[in-house]
Amino acid sequence: MSGVPAELRAALLDTARAMNASGLNQGSAGNLSVRLADGFLITPSGMDYADCTPDDMVPVAMDGTPRGARRPSSEWRFHRDVYRARPEVRAVLHAHPPWCTTLACLRRDIPPFHYMVAVAGGDSIRCADYARFGTQALSDHVLTALRGRRACLMANHGLLCVGGGLDEVLHLAREVEQLARWYGQALAIGEPALLDEGQMAEVLAAFADYGQPTR
Ligand code: 13P
Ligand code: ZN
Repeated sequence: MSGVPAELRAALLDTARAMNASGLNQGSAGNLSVRLADGFLITPSGMDYADCTPDDMVPVAMDGTPRGARRPSSEWRFHRDVYRARPEVRAVLHAHPPWCTTLACLRRDIPPFHYMVAVAGGDSIRCADYARFGTQALSDHVLTALRGRRACLMANHGLLCVGGGLDEVLHLAREVEQLARWYGQALAIGEPALLDEGQMAEVLAAFADYGQPTR
């Protein structure tokens, strides 16, 4: 594998630290990766990001072979499988955020209770079936739940977000955690009203032209 630019190692670690600082995750839970020309760079397994240096980040080839001093995240399989299956994806974030994980323990999809559910690419955010962490079965389940989406919950586990870069996946994880919180709070009070298919299709179409035009 080719050498990894020092700035990319630093950016990966900075984003992993930001993930924990924003309350999305804690300790060595979760993991984060960014695509390389011939593989991906991923956080090391079982290390607190506060104690890591950029050199602890682990390059992994697409066949799963690590090239670093540290063992890669135990979840390298689903990171690798997402990069294989989704050519547009440049970064993958996995965390155990409080509200996403609460819903994931109830094995609930997030339905279209709020128009921002469309931020994940469709009219729901699915919860992937359960399999033990680090397994091929878990990777297969999350790939299924991610079809047509940029995020999914993981049963009895947490959250997975994929996107065009490190800043994008961190931003998306914050959005999905906020949605999970609103949904959990709404469920605690009553039965949330859901938007229908047509209303969500309108939101998805409007999102295509949202914000400032690209120059
Ligand atoms: P790693 O420390 O091996 O990345 O594992 C953390 C985790 O969240 C497993 O799902
Ligand atoms: Zn996990």
